[in-house]
Amino acid sequence: MTYKHPIAPENRLTSKDWSGRRFRAFTRSEIDRIPQLQSLPVATRQAMQAVSAVLPFRVNEYVLEELIDWSDIPNDPIYQLTFPQPGMLGEDEFETMLGHVRRGSDNATLTAQARPIQASLNPHPAGQLELNVPQFDGESVEGIQHKYRETVLFFPSAGQTCHAYCTYCFRWAQFVGIEDLRMAARQSDHLVRYLQAHTEVEGVLITGGDPMIMKTKVLRRYVEPLLDPALEHVRTIRIGTKAPAYWPQRFVTDDDADDFLRLIDEARAAGKRIAIMAHYSHPRELSTDMAQRALERIQSAGAVVRCQAPLIRHVNDSSDVWTEMWRRQVELGAVPYYMFVERDTGAKRYFEVPLARALSIFDGAYRRTSGLARTVRGPSLSTTPGKIVVDGTATVAGERVFVLKFLQARNPDWVGRHFFAHFDRHATWLDDLRPAFGERRFFFEDELAAMGPTRSSEPDMVPRARVP
Ligand SMILES: *Cc1c(COP(=O)(O)O)cnc(C)c1O
Ligand code: SF4
Repeated sequence: MTYKHPIAPENRLTSKDWSGRRFRAFTRSEIDRIPQLQSLPVATRQAMQAVSAVLPFRVNEYVLEELIDWSDIPNDPIYQLTFPQPGMLGEDEFETMLGHVRRGSDNATLTAQARPIQASLNPHPAGQLELNVPQFDGESVEGIQHKYRETVLFFPSAGQTCHAYCTYCFRWAQFVGIEDLRMAARQSDHLVRYLQAHTEVEGVLITGGDPMIMKTKVLRRYVEPLLDPALEHVRTIRIGTKAPAYWPQRFVTDDDADDFLRLIDEARAAGKRIAIMAHYSHPRELSTDMAQRALERIQSAGAVVRCQAPLIRHVNDSSDVWTEMWRRQVELGAVPYYMFVERDTGAKRYFEVPLARALSIFDGAYRRTSGLARTVRGPSLSTTPGKIVVDGTATVAGERVFVLKFLQARNPDWVGRHFFAHFDRHATWLDDLRPAFGERRFFFEDELAAMGPTRSSEPDMVPRARVP
């Protein structure tokens, strides 16, 4: 059966026939075996090897064959999204690592050299596996975070990797093995008991890594218990994933693609809605035949697809890119949801976009889309007190300010509340902002301090935007 594209031919990439082809990924040790890299200078591959000894690297054949435009590297956005770049490390650190690669140092030496560099890149931006972990019967509940009243995050241990890695991922430390996953859950029984005791929870968000890396039969072990009538208050099950972008075959041609669609339907029959929180970084990820068929199939099985991504220099830092991305999402029936601000970790220097610029990119794109795409919120920062949107700038009593608002908050009473920070065109994160009008603290700070340990940023589904 041929699939009818809703997108104009000039905006489409032609797609290959993937039937019968199994998923194949390449990691650092296989860089020399990636066919598309063979024609690149040896120095380019050595640079990749140097950087990927510090930051994680994983790519797959679909990304290589269909998403990257090899005539436009290094500028190609998907190449920047997935391949390590020299500028991701400081100059000295890069030279040190490159020296070792050129001398042919063994892996143990490279790893030892990489450790202090990794440690300097803020590998635990949020203590993501320590904060917001609830207690139950006096013990921490494995693999769960409960930060916002209505939603519980769940990290199944089998879903802690991805079909490819985003160079900007805030979970990078976990992928290079310096953050351990003792908090990831092996089973869902603790989750179920926790939910039984917390009837204020309306939804569970299954996250990772990428939960869609799991076979459907493994995913079922986590999802099916949530369909129990005893958990009637749990209305939605969200799955945070980049598989629709990195391996849409997961929903189309993989052996257990159909079984996943059945699971969506079974959830619906049990009165729950499965929502796919899809991470799309660039409109190109929506342009292949396979990507469009994946979206079509997910939706016809009865799931909604909401889309989110961080704003990243070198990948998607222009209004045109976001306008095009939101338009395509709407054309394909998906719902634009969040634009995130890159968090403070990893190769942040390389990727960061100041808040003022993020705001103008967001506004520029938002103005040019129809109301159907204006379901999107952003630019949003996932911080310790909550998700904060930079709503605009204003001049009040002669002072230029950022107008900020909580979209989600640790204390639900803060949601929707506006507050003001002195305008600073270099600021990239909440830590860089100070309250406007000469005030000493933001309104939430005292209460937040009383809530216990705080850090500057917290995990999310994306990568940060957490990502997946
Ligand atoms: C973003 C987020 C959620 C979900 O928030 P929504 O606004 O409902 O999408 C839940 N928990 C955490 C920790 C989050 O960062
Ligand atoms: S952002 Fe998501 S898909 Fe990308 S590497 Fe991180 S967890 Fe995986």
